[in-house]
Amino acid sequence: MNETRLAIVIPCYNEEDTLSFSISRLSEVLDDLISKNEISDKSFLFFVDDGSLDKTWEIIHNAHLQNPDKIKGTSFTTNFGNQNAIIAGLDTVNDLGVDCAITIDADLQQDETKIGEFVQKYKNGADIVAGIRNNRDTDSLVKKVPATLFYKFMNVLGVNLQPNHSEYRLVSKKTLEIISNYKETKLFLRGLFYELGLKTDYVYFDVKKRQFGESKFNFFSLMRLAAYGIVSFSVRPLRFVFLIGLFISFMSFLVGILWFYLIFIKGDTLFGIEGYEICEMFFSGLQILCIGIIGEYIGQILEEVKSRPRYIKDKDLK
Ligand code: UDP
Ligand code: MG
Repeated sequence: MNETRLAIVIPCYNEEDTLSFSISRLSEVLDDLISKNEISDKSFLFFVDDGSLDKTWEIIHNAHLQNPDKIKGTSFTTNFGNQNAIIAGLDTVNDLGVDCAITIDADLQQDETKIGEFVQKYKNGADIVAGIRNNRDTDSLVKKVPATLFYKFMNVLGVNLQPNHSEYRLVSKKTLEIISNYKETKLFLRGLFYELGLKTDYVYFDVKKRQFGESKFNFFSLMRLAAYGIVSFSVRPLRFVFLIGLFISFMSFLVGILWFYLIFIKGDTLFGIEGYEICEMFFSGLQILCIGIIGEYIGQILEEVKSRPRYIKDKDLK
């Protein structure tokens, strides 16, 4: 009998349209791996209902009643966001005693037939197996362009993120134990897991079109996630503010000397009023930008200092 106990963790937010299909499809994948003796028959699916307003929890609850050993879950009191839903699922399955856990989206856009490959790479010694998308063809332009720029920008900031990374990922028990000591409230899991220095392998997969329901992310929620990623993994934007301040001070010192020379030595004038206004506008904008960058960091410090819980559980199906 294989001893590897696997949990498949699925964050769900208003997924009533897709959930029944996803539950039966993931159950098939799980049963198939069990029948091939690749994982233990104590493996299970774990759903996290992230404060859905539709019938998501009802569907999870009914599935649990039919098969309590294979289908478990928890629900939140309100919507705490996808990153918190994922970490709640991982923390809970760690407490339930698994050897490894895979996270996958409820809409099964990520190719679920690859789960066996993740498990294989784990058995070959990887503590983290990251799912990498072969392409971004299914993403809208609103998502594709900022996402591509974001990964490039993170690299410029010195954060080594794998492009086309996703939340489709296997982590070992060792990883779960380590990550349970990371208490930050604002999470950016795509960065966090890869700072740990653990052995990492990759599985490449094609992204399918969403079959049922619609995407729960919009431009602004993605921007917020990107801001967490940047602020929690790099202080280079703050250094940029410092350097730009230094550069402007130096330049204004030079302009001051020039002004002094032209007015008092040559008896000339330097700028007309329009030139002056343009400069003023530019520097006002720059100052606001810099205050904004610093503000992002201060905001995040405030959130972390408060150290409120990442999520509040409502019900548990264990
Ligand atoms: N999700 C969540 N909480 C949220 C938003 C999304 O748990 O606040 C879940 C969602 O149900 C899905 C996964 O996160 O399982 C990815 O969301 P979605 O498929 O909408 O994102 P996309 O594929 O468009 O990036
Ligand atoms: Mg999706």
